[in-house]
Amino acid sequence: MNHSPAHLETVVREIAAEMAVRTDRGKVASYIPELANVDIDAFGIAVIDTDGNVVTGGDSDVQFSIQSISKVFTLTIALGMVGDHLWQHVGREPSGSPFNSIVQLEREEGVPRNPFINAGAIAVTDVILSGHEPRVALGEILRFMRFLAQDQSIKIDEKVAASEQRTGFRNAALANYMKSFSVLQNPVEYTLGVYFHHCAIAMSCRQLAMAARFLANKGRDPSTGFQVVQAERARRINAIMLTCGHYDGSGEFAYRVGLPGKSGVGGGILAIAPGKASIAVWSPGLDDSGNSHLGRIALETLAKRMGWSIFGA
Ligand code: GLN
Repeated sequence: MNHSPAHLETVVREIAAEMAVRTDRGKVASYIPELANVDIDAFGIAVIDTDGNVVTGGDSDVQFSIQSISKVFTLTIALGMVGDHLWQHVGREPSGSPFNSIVQLEREEGVPRNPFINAGAIAVTDVILSGHEPRVALGEILRFMRFLAQDQSIKIDEKVAASEQRTGFRNAALANYMKSFSVLQNPVEYTLGVYFHHCAIAMSCRQLAMAARFLANKGRDPSTGFQVVQAERARRINAIMLTCGHYDGSGEFAYRVGLPGKSGVGGGILAIAPGKASIAVWSPGLDDSGNSHLGRIALETLAKRMGWSIFGA
């Protein structure tokens, strides 16, 4: 298998061209009204290998709403704050249910299955919030993103946050339900406010791939050598991305792509080829599980042509 940067460039160029002409683009999320205003024809890809080569295609510098991709970074922060105590608040098993499902919560006494479904991410946000003002906790999350991406311009899209705050009845139900089991410690409106705002962070494929380099490189930022998390923790975050990163589509994503990945309803997917590359793709049209349709196909193509599936080439 050819791993040269030149080969990677050819493959990324091919993928951008192939995705541009596809007509099966899925459906843009509209339950957060502000997300419906995105151009369905947009497509971006950025790949950063562990030697620091950056290869991009399409709309790789256009910022989009990262939504649930933020949950990879909030999980990292919460593990840094409380370590394995986090697992008292949230499990780490795949749910097999949609991202906003409430059914398991009743049977499992308000403890969400994993940190990537909405209920689990709200519980993780609650841990980050504990002992802080909401704006301080949010500032912490934003600072972490800017630090990892080495880009101080990364911001929260306030319009998207306000749009979800107005319409996030399902998330409010999940949060209140968890609160009734004392799984959440903070006032529900504070926890939800921080959650909606970190989901509304806007980033490009290039910025996202930059921010996740530590997951492809044993917990270390390859450009500075800074150890963001221990290698073991990076490995475990990748494992949860593989098993839970695409909700009830996680099995299909592992089957087709074979890489740890985390999707968001803004149409982004962050994927990690451990020891090889950090990858971000974006196409706003979603499949029935709320995962980017062409984003998944682009990653499947990339993993196949580069021989990057963790299950073998
Ligand atoms: N903010 C979105 C929500 O809570 C995130 C969902 C997602 O990206 N899958 O519904």
